[in-house]
Amino acid sequence: MPQGFTLSVYPWVYLAKYQEDGSWAEDFQEKPHKTPREEEAMAPAELDALLAQRNSFPELPVVNYTTQYGLGCFEGLKAFPQADGSLKLFRPDQNARRFARSMEGLKMPVYPDETFVSAVRTTVAKNLKLGFSPTFDRAWERDDFESGDSVYIRPFTYAEPAIGLGLSHSPWVIMVTTPVGSYFRPGNSKAVTADTVRATPGGTGWIKCDANYVMAILAKKRAEAEGFMEAVFLDSTHRKYVEEGSSCNIFFVLSNGHLVTPDLGDTILPGVTRDSVLTLAADLKIATEVRRISIEEVMADAREAFVTGTAAGVTSLESLTHMGKTAVFSPDGSSGEVGRALQKNLKGIQYGSLPDRHGWMVAV
Ligand code: PMP
Repeated sequence: MPQGFTLSVYPWVYLAKYQEDGSWAEDFQEKPHKTPREEEAMAPAELDALLAQRNSFPELPVVNYTTQYGLGCFEGLKAFPQADGSLKLFRPDQNARRFARSMEGLKMPVYPDETFVSAVRTTVAKNLKLGFSPTFDRAWERDDFESGDSVYIRPFTYAEPAIGLGLSHSPWVIMVTTPVGSYFRPGNSKAVTADTVRATPGGTGWIKCDANYVMAILAKKRAEAEGFMEAVFLDSTHRKYVEEGSSCNIFFVLSNGHLVTPDLGDTILPGVTRDSVLTLAADLKIATEVRRISIEEVMADAREAFVTGTAAGVTSLESLTHMGKTAVFSPDGSSGEVGRALQKNLKGIQYGSLPDRHGWMVAV
C-alpha cells in the first residue's frame, strides 16, 4: 500500500491548451507503460526510468511564468474504489469550481467546469481500463479508513514560454493521476502553531495557487523537524486567530460540545472536505459555529481538534503546541468522538459503504 504521495504517474495523462478562439485543444496521451503486473515485477531502477518517462512532457517550455514566478494553480481530488470494482470521484464539480476561481484570481482564461469534470473522469477511466487502479482492499468493509487507497488526481496550469513579469494568456491545463494511501504518518498527530505567515488580507490565500505553498512547505518541514506532524497558521494581522494547516482546514470541539471552524475570509482556502464536514455535522445534529477562533480559546477550551482535506480526510490532532504550551486533546493519539463520527461518515460515503445521501459521488 503506498504511503502518502509517492509519485507514480499512471500512463494516461491529459493536456489542454488554450486557443486564440477561446476554446481548449484537448489531448489525452498514453505514456510508455507495461501491464501493472509486469511493472510490479520490474527492477526498481528500470521502473524508475519508466515512471520518469511518464512524468516527462518534452513539449512543455521550461522557462515560463509558472517555473520562474510561481504563476500557476492546481487542484487535488480523489477517486475511491467501490465494492463493485468501479471508481467514484468525490465532488469533482467543487474542485472544478475552485480551479476556475483560482485561474480567474490569476487572470488566466477560463477553463470550463464541465471540461474539468469530463477530463478527470476520462483520464481516470482510461487508466482503470488498462488495469491501473488503487488496491481494491475492501476498505469499504473496514471501520478504519485511515489507510484507504485511492487515486489522486492532480490538475494544474502551466504557462506559455516567457520571461519578465506578465500574465499567462494561453496556459495549458494538465492532469496526472497517481495511487495514494494515507497522507499523514501514523503514530504522530501533534501540531504546532507556525510563527510564519501563510496568507495576508488582500493576498492569494483564498485560491489554490502555487505561490501559497512556499510558506506552507517551509512551516510543515520545520514542524516535522521539531517532531510534529503539522503546522497551524495564525492570522497575519493579529497573530491571534487560528486559520488553517499547511494543506488542510481545521476544526475544534469546545467544552460545550460545539464544533467550530474558522470562517473563510480571503486568507483561508475553502476546502471541499471542510464544506462536506460541515454538512455531515448538520446531518449528525452537531451544533456548529463558523467564526473566528483565537488560539487562546483553543488552548483553554478545545476538547478535540482535527484537520480536514482531500489528503488528510478527517485526521484528529493529538495535541497543539503554541509558544511552548501544549493543549493535549488525545493523550493516546486516538480520534476524538466527533472526529471519528465525521470521519466514518465521510469515508463511508466515499467508499460506498454508506448511502451517498448528498449526491456527492460521481462514477468515472
Ligand atoms: N487548505 C489548504 C491550504 C489546502 O492546500 C487544502 C488541500 N486542498 C485544504 C485546505 C483542504 O481542501 P480540500 O478539502 O478541498 O482538499
